[in-house]
Amino acid sequence: MQSIPGEGVLPAPPVFRMPIDPRDIAICTSAGEAAPDDFGSMAPPIVQTSLFSLPTFRELLDALADEDDHYVYTRGQNPTVAHVERQLAALERGDRCKCFGSGMAAISAVLMGLLESGDHVLFINQIYGPTLQLANHLQRFGITHDVTYDRSIESIASAVKENTRLVWMESPSTMLFRMLDVPAVAALASERGLVSVMDNTWSTPLFQKPIEVGVDIVVHSLTKYVGGHSDVVAGAVITSARLMEQIFYRAFMLNGGILGPFDAWLLARGIRTLPIRLERHQSNALAVAEFLSQHASVRRVFHPALDPEDRDLAASQLAGYSGLLSFELATDEFAAVADFIDGLKMFRIGVSWGGFESLVVSPNRGDNGDSLAAQGIPPGLVRLSVGLEDADQLKKDLAQALS
Ligand SMILES: *Cc1c(COP(=O)(O)O)cnc(C)c1O
Repeated sequence: MQSIPGEGVLPAPPVFRMPIDPRDIAICTSAGEAAPDDFGSMAPPIVQTSLFSLPTFRELLDALADEDDHYVYTRGQNPTVAHVERQLAALERGDRCKCFGSGMAAISAVLMGLLESGDHVLFINQIYGPTLQLANHLQRFGITHDVTYDRSIESIASAVKENTRLVWMESPSTMLFRMLDVPAVAALASERGLVSVMDNTWSTPLFQKPIEVGVDIVVHSLTKYVGGHSDVVAGAVITSARLMEQIFYRAFMLNGGILGPFDAWLLARGIRTLPIRLERHQSNALAVAEFLSQHASVRRVFHPALDPEDRDLAASQLAGYSGLLSFELATDEFAAVADFIDGLKMFRIGVSWGGFESLVVSPNRGDNGDSLAAQGIPPGLVRLSVGLEDADQLKKDLAQALS
């Protein structure tokens, strides 16, 4: 806060973002297309079947030849899953969406569906750990990669190699929530003939639409906000019909990491309340972030709206802020980080994020200092997933644990 002589303390600048797009609210709250025999049920039917029988053998053969557009076998298409896929494609303003049994299954399908031996992938910004572990495994198949934490477009351009085929970004990034100039990276990729991919899990399709600014493929872990109730693991890919065809036949059908109809039904339930939940996650997380940024035991808060370096980029690229943030305790000691986490009462200790409940975790495991330093992550870092509870109670809990 700034103080002007004679005028007292100025309030912090307003960081609330624009209201959620009414078109998106309509998509989330629509009941979808009614099936002919669904009795007018408001919730989509759970079509719990492994296969679909067709009237004639010739019709089965025709359907099999075009399995991405026909119900033949639930490892390909299923009506309950397709209901969620239509909603997600519409929210991301993409042609096609395919849902998967996890975010990692979606990520695997993009990399395995599009890359050949000899190709190179450039990862930009702090990237979700298992995505990089998968990239390490792909070296066995002759696919190499680099990671760049330098976010200037010049240094990203100079990290592109002759055999680079794909650029993979997270903005805001994992753990530190640093922004990238997404339209600039997408333009660079298209100039060089590369496929660009955004892991859009943090923002959800409501707060960022990468396809609208030129990104080719969006992936999601739907386990986080889209599910939102900490009861389903799922993922999605949204892209053009052309790229989806390749991903569908070369990876989705063959890797077999499908989403089951019941889990799709849980996602459909989560999507109905996504706009209203995100508004609450946003306001709660901003209240917590502002509280932490003024606390003497906190060195720095990592939230795109509060980062002086990233604030402008965030304001121009994000329509809102979700509830995942981190902060650096004024300590480098693992024991102090662990004691702080154990001292919290409302924040449950656990991995994952994006559910109704507040969660806390730290990337510091006590024995991984070198790896954290290589990623630019301070040892005192604590990550919060701010849930739907009362913001004042959450701040009180943080205050007692910090003292
Ligand atoms: C959780 C997560 C994933 C992986 O999703 P799963 O559903 O756990 O497989 C991918 N990217 C990001 C940014 C995530 O947070």
